[in-house]
Amino acid sequence: MNQFSKEHISVASNASGRKMHVPVYRFKGQAPGPKVYIQSSIHGAEVQGNVVIYHLIEFLKVNPIRGEIVLVPNCNPVGTNIKSGEYTLGRFDPVNGQNWNRGYYYDESMITEFVDSLTGELSLEEIKPIFKEKMKQAIESELNKPWGIGLASRLNLQLQSLALDADIVIDLHNGPVATRHIYVPEYAKESARYFNIPHIIYIPNQFSGALDEATFCHWWTLVDKLSVKFPAQLWETPVEAFTLEMGSQEVIDFESGQYDANGILSYLNHKGFLVESDIEPDNINRYSVFLKDYKILYSQDGGIVEYKVKPGQHVNKGEVIANVLNVDELENENAVSHIYAPDDLIVILHFPSASVLCGTQLYKCFVNYTKL
Ligand SMILES: [Zn+2]
Repeated sequence: MNQFSKEHISVASNASGRKMHVPVYRFKGQAPGPKVYIQSSIHGAEVQGNVVIYHLIEFLKVNPIRGEIVLVPNCNPVGTNIKSGEYTLGRFDPVNGQNWNRGYYYDESMITEFVDSLTGELSLEEIKPIFKEKMKQAIESELNKPWGIGLASRLNLQLQSLALDADIVIDLHNGPVATRHIYVPEYAKESARYFNIPHIIYIPNQFSGALDEATFCHWWTLVDKLSVKFPAQLWETPVEAFTLEMGSQEVIDFESGQYDANGILSYLNHKGFLVESDIEPDNINRYSVFLKDYKILYSQDGGIVEYKVKPGQHVNKGEVIANVLNVDELENENAVSHIYAPDDLIVILHFPSASVLCGTQLYKCFVNYTKL
């Protein structure tokens, strides 16, 4: 059976000087295979991933794997504990204001220098460990910069170090009020159908600071540069990374967690990670967009909003998707205004609160979507 170990590593310290830790669970199979890294709750209010990891651990206790898997639940011990009244303010590092999922390391010039330094032609298998070592050193030197780094970046870089060795990286998130959706790098389109997630966003090789990008942008760019320098060889990106958004924040649901754990296992099974499993993806409708067609609808005015469309619902252009109550105009015809769908769309998520300022991200939607 799989070899199991668990440790707690320190990733931050609070004002009292206490170390703050995250648990790291590892399962190692007897046969070689892919290395997998999964974390949850880098945004402190997005807690469902912890239930998914719980179900994965239940599975891994009794089902043999090939390769190994590292699981880091509740990977942000600061963000999880910042509450204001009933709510978790888990999205931003409260000290510097940085989004907790935007401080990972990526540096294209490091990759350029690395490829320039290669003289003889090596195989990708030979290049992988050398490149990983380069990234490891780069992250170490970021962490040890004499001028220091911000809280979010410090946490992110330590988590990225744990994920560096992995062939598959999965970052578990939730939307505000959302339906399931997944971010997939454009080169890994084929993998999208193995998760049980009906809404798929294909992302380009563009780094905005998130863990999935920090993982695949390195490998994608490396392979692009290798293809230019050594065109005789066929280069394929050897690493896949995904952000899974599994419904709404601030709630957990064990049954849904089991369903999403099964989806992840179905994908891992497709990658040869499970020794004797017949787990297959569910037969569901899947819709995909390129990132440019994942649109934000902002409120034009402030007010109190009735959301007329549930996440996952398909809407035609011109349909009313929200009613806005203006308490300054209650006695006249301006009391209620309507927001109309600007295009044919699928609602993926909406803002969690009924009271909104102007310029709030009310809805995020798929337009120009295609069915898989
Ligand atoms: Zn998130």
